[in-house]
Amino acid sequence: MLRIKNARIVKNEELKEVNIYVERGKIKDIVPGDEILLPVEKEINVKGNIVFPGFIDPHVHFDDPGFTEREDFETGTRSAAAGGITTIIDMPCTSIPPVTNGKNFDYKLNIVKPKAYVDFAFWGGVTPQQVESGEYRKSLKELKDKGIIGVKFYTISGMKLYPRMTVPDMDKTFRAVKELNLICAIHAEDCYLVDYYSNLMQEMRREDPESWYEGRTYEAEPEAIWSVVAITEKVRNKLHIVHLSTKEGLNIIRWAKVQGLDVSTETCPQYLIFTIEDFKKVGSLLKIAPPLRKEEDREELWRGLKDGSIDFISTDHAAGKYPEEKSESNIWKNYAGIPGTQLAVPTILHYGYHQGRLTLGEIQKLMSENIAQRYGLHPQKGVIKVGGDADFTVVDLDKKWVVEPSKLESKGKYSPLIEKELTGKIYMTIVRGEVVYKEDKGIVGTKGYGKLIKTKIK
Ligand SMILES: [Zn+2]
Repeated sequence: MLRIKNARIVKNEELKEVNIYVERGKIKDIVPGDEILLPVEKEINVKGNIVFPGFIDPHVHFDDPGFTEREDFETGTRSAAAGGITTIIDMPCTSIPPVTNGKNFDYKLNIVKPKAYVDFAFWGGVTPQQVESGEYRKSLKELKDKGIIGVKFYTISGMKLYPRMTVPDMDKTFRAVKELNLICAIHAEDCYLVDYYSNLMQEMRREDPESWYEGRTYEAEPEAIWSVVAITEKVRNKLHIVHLSTKEGLNIIRWAKVQGLDVSTETCPQYLIFTIEDFKKVGSLLKIAPPLRKEEDREELWRGLKDGSIDFISTDHAAGKYPEEKSESNIWKNYAGIPGTQLAVPTILHYGYHQGRLTLGEIQKLMSENIAQRYGLHPQKGVIKVGGDADFTVVDLDKKWVVEPSKLESKGKYSPLIEKELTGKIYMTIVRGEVVYKEDKGIVGTKGYGKLIKTKIK
């Protein structure tokens, strides 16, 4: 038995002092701070710091196997541990082969499991070729049986092994995914608009950051969201829009929710902190897809988090090879992506909590509980509750610190936040009762400890 002593947990927006008892990786009891009930073999004193249910990053690209020159499961899950993330959910498309059937799922699992420092789940995938051959129904069923939490779709794709899906492809597969009671997650940017305007920019020999922004034109996101919402309106499947970046896209999602459609969305720290003006100044480090937008979009995303129309926060962690893939003077030649999982929690504490935009209770929901609920990981993950996994993100709320590249665990040692002073630091990360990260010692977990988490959705 383990006792986590002097913890402060967030309940109904109030801090409650408690001791948490843990047995065999599960929460055994939670008692008020002054009561010491059970005998223990081990004690962790968290010294009055705030203990959240383990935070979940539901959207990462850890590139393993296949693109491990950029990231792998070891460096990816180490950056999660250092960032207070106790469970990550990895995308199906940025590994070779993509996770599009049971065999590929097992292949990836065997490779990444021995490298994991924190718990992980997998997104599944489907390709247009599988739809054409009719094989997709069988493959999706296999993936469901293996425990994927949902199926990822792209309305635009630059990936050879994971092409975009057309409206007819999506209508068919949404139906199949619905029968399995899983969720369809969409990268929403209209490919016709983006292809045309991106080509135009390059024909004009534009190489500046703004040409990337203009090429991936604003309306491409709402346009693609309308299309998939239209399909969902017919199919009545569960739909999730990933990395939302626009106010207009958010308004469509709000409308869809009012219509009673089962639609959710997420946004990422980068869209909440930066705008096109920063991209113009900073360049490649902030090259992402969809691109950064305007101030009014950024502010509306915060409002969406506050009013519940945005369900949670993810990072879309995607590390380019640094500096090689992030240092071309031509913006089109740089890799699109930021490794974000290590800095997401401190960033949201700094810009969300300390700047008065979100409460601790809201952050707890947006980075843990809502994600676990939506993806069927609840109540094993996402809450501090007797019987749940003893996953905790322990935060030193008022600690000021400066982001340094040498402290980043990701292979991509870059971030637009380098040299920025943040308020709010990860004090400790605990996964199923084991400390995997400590502020003063760094990573203290064991490689291979992280385990596969499956959705509980039947
Ligand atoms: Zn992504």
